[in-house]
Amino acid sequence: MSDCIFCKIVDGEIPANKVMEDEEFIAFHDIHPKAKVHVLVIPKKHIPTFMDIQEEDVALLGRLHLFIQKVTKELNMDEKGFRVINNCKDHGGQEVYHLHYHILGGEKLAF
Ligand code: 5GP
Ligand code: ZN
Repeated sequence: MSDCIFCKIVDGEIPANKVMEDEEFIAFHDIHPKAKVHVLVIPKKHIPTFMDIQEEDVALLGRLHLFIQKVTKELNMDEKGFRVINNCKDHGGQEVYHLHYHILGGEKLAF
């Protein structure tokens, strides 16, 4: 059993308000939203940080970009736009050590 909170979401051990899911990725609403729409997109594969991405993950993370496009279309953010953020390690403010991208939007971001 994993100690990783996002692996627990992948395994269905803890609930998440999911926007979309496929074989490789899940998008779900952040529990403490920092914008009108704040969604997290994760690969189901446990990759701890941005710096742990390996050559073998390149195609997976390419597809993650297309998954993000689908998520933003589902949430009607695709035309007006959005922001994609990765926080990497301590200085980046990373709290959960399972690679994830923050999708922020639904409004003009003031920050
Ligand atoms: P980080 O700082 O690691 O980039 O961001 C982690 C994000 O995960 C934070 O924005 C935090 O609110 C969110 N988060 C932490 N635990 C949970 C959880 O159990 N469920 C959901 N939906 N979001 C979480
Ligand atoms: Zn994990």
